Amino acid sequence: MINIEHIGIAVRHLSSSIPLFEKLLDTSCYKTEVVESEQVNTAFFKKGESKIELVEAYGPGSVINSFIEKKGEGIHHIAFEVKDIYEEAARLQSEGFILINEKPKKGADNKLVWFLHPKSTNGVLIELCMEIE
Ligand code: ZN
Repeated sequence: MINIEHIGIAVRHLSSSIPLFEKLLDTSCYKTEVVESEQVNTAFFKKGESKIELVEAYGPGSVINSFIEKKGEGIHHIAFEVKDIYEEAARLQSEGFILINEKPKKGADNKLVWFLHPKSTNGVLIELCMEIE
């Protein structure tokens, strides 16, 4: 793992959370993007080297719905940038961590993403992400 790429925050409504985070961070949202594979709408903020991703469900099958039902709005995941997502996934698996999917998916922001099951990471959903060349 190279560094924390972003922190993902589950929100009910981007329409109210984007202006809230713009005020909080004193910067404009620089990108919104639909991620079909997860049925989510995302919005990105950058402050120095730090990135925040707001995540809103758009379909009934979105994992964000069940997350918000159970825990409410709040920190949803921590994303680590990796150099080689397959190599890192293999390393983590050999250390006993559980990957949620068989293979990585296309995520937001031109990234391949792969999630670790929070069961194996003290309840924290970890996203591995790698820039798509
Ligand atoms: Zn993310």
